[in-house]
Amino acid sequence: MTTYLNFIDGAFVKGSADPFANHFPATGEVIGEVSAAGRAEVDAAVHAARAALKGPWGRMPLAERAALLRKVAEGINARFDEFLAAEIRDTGKPRSLASHIDIPRGAANFTVFADQITTASTEAFEMPTPDGKGALNYALRVPRGVIGVVCPWNLPLLLMTWKVAPALACGNTVVVKPSEETPATATLLGEVMNAVGIPPGVYNVVHGMGPDAAGEFLTTHPGIDGITFTGETRTGEAIMRAAATGVRPVSLELGGKNAGIIFDDADLDATLEGIGRACFANSGQVCLGTERLYVQRGIFDRLAAGLAEKARAYQLGDPFSDATTMGPVISAEHRDKVLRYYDQAKAEGATVLAGGGAPEVGGHAGGYWVQPTIWTGLPENSPVVRNEIFGPCTHMTAFDTEEEAIALANDTPYGLATSIWTTNLGRAHRTAKAVDVGISWINAWFLRDLRTPFGGSKASGIGREGGVHSLEFYSELRNVCIKL
Ligand code: NAD
Repeated sequence: MTTYLNFIDGAFVKGSADPFANHFPATGEVIGEVSAAGRAEVDAAVHAARAALKGPWGRMPLAERAALLRKVAEGINARFDEFLAAEIRDTGKPRSLASHIDIPRGAANFTVFADQITTASTEAFEMPTPDGKGALNYALRVPRGVIGVVCPWNLPLLLMTWKVAPALACGNTVVVKPSEETPATATLLGEVMNAVGIPPGVYNVVHGMGPDAAGEFLTTHPGIDGITFTGETRTGEAIMRAAATGVRPVSLELGGKNAGIIFDDADLDATLEGIGRACFANSGQVCLGTERLYVQRGIFDRLAAGLAEKARAYQLGDPFSDATTMGPVISAEHRDKVLRYYDQAKAEGATVLAGGGAPEVGGHAGGYWVQPTIWTGLPENSPVVRNEIFGPCTHMTAFDTEEEAIALANDTPYGLATSIWTTNLGRAHRTAKAVDVGISWINAWFLRDLRTPFGGSKASGIGREGGVHSLEFYSELRNVCIKL
């Protein structure tokens, strides 16, 4: 049994709120206890962050700060296996996935933003003045201050460091509230921060739930200068309301109900490989995942048969085994939610091409398992086709024309991502431009260059992070005008 403590001002401390259990999703076993922060610890964390901002971190030259962030990446890599085991125990995701995506990206975020901040420039403008001597304007990049970082459970270390790394690179300090489901890697990162010499108070972690708990205590705290959040759209709305008091800036990366659009000229093998991952990777618990597939009629049957074969080929089992390709979903509550949609699809008369229920997974009876599932035949207004399920499932609809595919893809309140498959270059560009999302992939899915703008349109979020866009959120530009 591991006890996860809060990390405040460089020290691991107990929280004053009621502790809660941490489960291994593959078996349902209790494997740890989380010491939840009350208002007092959240307050202490915010004060520690403020003191560090005014103290050693705020005074540190940029090059030194960037060098320390590179050491954080090295520190994660030096303890790669510990981070990997912690992430697998928290999420149940297979080792093959976490070792290739979660932990390497968790480390890479620090090097990418260390590079970004050391090469970032600002603007300068010369201007005429009536006396003919002129004036010079230049912009200084200054930290926003203390940033509240609220994270989800689906890619815990990756998504948390995606925010913490640019925030620290820009000279801010942070108070992180990891998901209550996944406290481990954020806590472990505290040890790395201490080991590599990040000053106390720069990185703080408070554990607990969201409403009326650590999450809300943090986002409503008047000492927070900005909030960055990834999670559900509904939670994003609550956080935006909290941020309105004091007019604090927010960056919101929210939910999606992303469409895959497959034209009949697509390379079938490449499409099946890419779309298979888009539907099922991480048990479908990826905000960028594809829960709606629009497939041109001429290729529909072959695509459906190929995708069903992919779904059936997943090996569900011990996440620590290299043979396992799909883990459980995060919690009993989330499994029940996903299975309610599976039942609803059947009740509405969907044709189930693969899966459709809860599997038996030998030796893992208490785990939170659901089958990779494909449906056809539901109307577009079915909640199964409209709501984000966040499970390993997708619904396939046939279309005839490009215009129809675009209209179907756009008929959603969300606007996060799309994955378009075609060998027709003109059509690829037209479709990518016409679908109202923040991220369009053509003949690819989840191919990420961390310098590119990342974020959603419509109910999928506000703002863009990545590259210079992260620097824009995590710093303020102060214009200095000098009369010459
Ligand atoms: P969630 O919104 O339930 O929780 C996210 C975090 O917010 C947790 O730490 C939670 O404790 C906290 N929280 C909840 N209510 C709060 C409140 N009132 N005040 C302050 N904090 C609060 O999301 P989740 O279930 O952890 O994650 C899954 C969701 O995240 C999905 O909707 C998914 O699409 C989305 N997501 C989006 C992206 C993206 O980049 N757009 C990436 C990953 C996940």
